[in-house]
Amino acid sequence: MIKTDILIIGAGPTGLFTVFEAGLLKLRCHLIDALPIAGGQCSEIYPKKPIYDIPGFPEVLAGKLTDNLLEQGKQFEPGFTLGERAETIDKQEDGSFVVTTNKGTKHQAPIVAIAGGLGSFEPRKPKIENISFYEDKGVEYFIKDPEVYRNKKVVISGGGDSALDWAIFLADVASEVTLVHRRNEFRGALDSVDTVQELKLLGKINLVTPAEVIKLHGDTKVEAVSVLKDGKEERIETDHFIPLFGLSPKLGPIGNWGLEIEKNAIKVDTFDYQTNIPGVFAIGDVNTYPGKLKLILCGFHEATLMCQSAYKMLNPGKKYVMKYTTVSGINGFDGSRKESPKAVVKAIV
Ligand SMILES: Cc1cc2nc3c(=O)[nH]c(=O)nc-3n(C[C@H](O)[C@H](O)[C@H](O)COP(=O)(O)OP(=O)(O)OC[C@H]3O[C@@H](n4cnc5c(N)ncnc54)[C@H](O)[C@@H]3O)c2cc1C
Repeated sequence: MIKTDILIIGAGPTGLFTVFEAGLLKLRCHLIDALPIAGGQCSEIYPKKPIYDIPGFPEVLAGKLTDNLLEQGKQFEPGFTLGERAETIDKQEDGSFVVTTNKGTKHQAPIVAIAGGLGSFEPRKPKIENISFYEDKGVEYFIKDPEVYRNKKVVISGGGDSALDWAIFLADVASEVTLVHRRNEFRGALDSVDTVQELKLLGKINLVTPAEVIKLHGDTKVEAVSVLKDGKEERIETDHFIPLFGLSPKLGPIGNWGLEIEKNAIKVDTFDYQTNIPGVFAIGDVNTYPGKLKLILCGFHEATLMCQSAYKMLNPGKKYVMKYTTVSGINGFDGSRKESPKAVVKAIV
């Protein structure tokens, strides 16, 4: 059982900034995200795009913003459960919540902050009859650790940036890389398409287009796939089949947690973004209230106010006086201390 003060569902910009605001109040955080990396939409959809409306940053790449948020929160030593979807929530007798993921990992906290954005990003799965049997037995929809594929045979399917980028990357790792796409044209960055073409000529990528993987074979794990090309079925021996057809966001299991939902978003009050379940907050893109704007800076604001309420709930009766970080400095949980240089006090005579 992973125990923490604030359990954050979603490691997008809102969830990541919550770690910092909670840390200032000496509250520990643990984040769960269905994706294998932190950053939410910024990492998954547009890491290389510049954002122009983050206060104080005239221009910042979405991927860089994620890196900065991780760096800012690092001193408060957050825990992460990545690549797992928060599935169920159970209220305990002591008032705390236990959240369990689809992989069975249990987390307990007195406060839950849902920062789930548009919902958990679920992979778009190809319609192949027995594909679920092979999941985690050679079929993977995300690449978490490329080393898993070292000296293995890999078939990648898809025509976007992910499929192209991973085919290029794995060409130097796997013993054999086959890229199957149902069209001759790819939707990815032009230089990636050129690189795949070069690797094909060098014999490092086996390109099969226009074609489709239609069957999987193997008694206990993937051993081969059948590809349909020009009306003919061809069998390709492989250790892994990686369909990369993009992700679609779904509010998913959170929709069944007894929360008030309006237009696929969680209704909250505008005092501290608490939901209809006391102790469960919803912040960032996932919530709705009159005047709501789905912007990163609004998520930051909501996270800040929510942490103030969480502090009061966890420390009833304790007086809290808000101080500027320029005045109080920051005591990181890792023992670090940051503070501005003390002003020289001069006596006035
Ligand atoms: C192309 C594009 C451009 C944009 N440009 C801008 C811009 O210029 N300025 C701006 O302010 N905003 C912009 N946005 C919007 C901005 O990205 C969002 O407002 C922001 O990402 C919301 O952050 P979040 O942390 O609330 O949610 P998200 O970034 O959506 O992160 C939510 C995370 O929660 C996870 N999650 C959800 N449910 C579960 C579950 N059950 N279990 C585990 N994990 C779960 C998801 O996997 C996801 O990683 C843009 C969006 C897009 C798509």
